[in-house]
Amino acid sequence: MGKKRVLVGYGIDVDAVANWINTCDGSPQNPTNVSRGVYGATVGIDRLLKLYDKYNIKATFFTPAHSIESFPKQLAKVRDAGHEIGLHGYTHEYVSQLSAKEQQAVLTRSIDVLTKFCGKRPLGYTAPAWSTSKELIPQLEAEGILYDHSFMHHDVQPYFAPDNSQTWIETDISKSADAWMMPMTKMRPSKVVEIPANWHLDDWPPLQPIPGRAGAQGFVDTDVVEKLWLQQFDFAYRECDTFIFPMSIHPQVSGKPHVILMHERIIEYINKHEGVEWMTLSDMAKEFLEGRMPGVGIEGGADL
Ligand SMILES: [Zn+2]
Repeated sequence: MGKKRVLVGYGIDVDAVANWINTCDGSPQNPTNVSRGVYGATVGIDRLLKLYDKYNIKATFFTPAHSIESFPKQLAKVRDAGHEIGLHGYTHEYVSQLSAKEQQAVLTRSIDVLTKFCGKRPLGYTAPAWSTSKELIPQLEAEGILYDHSFMHHDVQPYFAPDNSQTWIETDISKSADAWMMPMTKMRPSKVVEIPANWHLDDWPPLQPIPGRAGAQGFVDTDVVEKLWLQQFDFAYRECDTFIFPMSIHPQVSGKPHVILMHERIIEYINKHEGVEWMTLSDMAKEFLEGRMPGVGIEGGADL
């Protein structure tokens, strides 16, 4: 076993009201759901700031521009405590549902809002609901964004995000088999660092119910979630001398009392390990870019 270096951090999606009012077709939202978002922006943020202060952790708050404009006092507390503020769309709209032009309009506006609020350009991005598009990485690259946190090519290593120029043929059984029996073409790396996303390190599906949506059951015992997250940490610690461990949470989920207690246990467990360093996701990306964290290369696809 070599000397360990483990970069651990929290990416906090400050969805607040934005994810609830993103009804996609403009249909009205139930005000009780909107109030859950207000809880996140107020009670949730305050409790997370206290948690990070207690353990001396700097985290990354991915914040829709709508949340900054609607809750400036709360986001000022985040900014002034020295945490990173990253991009997360305007109103949590799904990139996968927008045209390339509308994706760019949202990116331009949200970069502008964050730059004015923070006094510097944002370095990182995470796609609302990790619902991405082929245009996303090229647009982030053109804007000079250092890193993304939306893709899942790996779970515990940083890498350069593929530029998504590779093509694949979806299986369409209304056509002859010869029309779709084709390999994916070769992936090519972009200049954007990927700090990978991971649904198994996300608090929303197990801990926040959305009635009627099976993927957000929401009533899992935090002991079960803690075990699921820490088993991933234990495996990576056993297998890798160097790795990253980014966890994704939401103030309206992790601000709940029982979930704060879970995070205290997780942080204290991780802190018992040699070589652990807590940092923002942009600092993880810089460690990789500047050669201090080896990471991996993502390969695959056929040369056609
Ligand atoms: Zn989100």
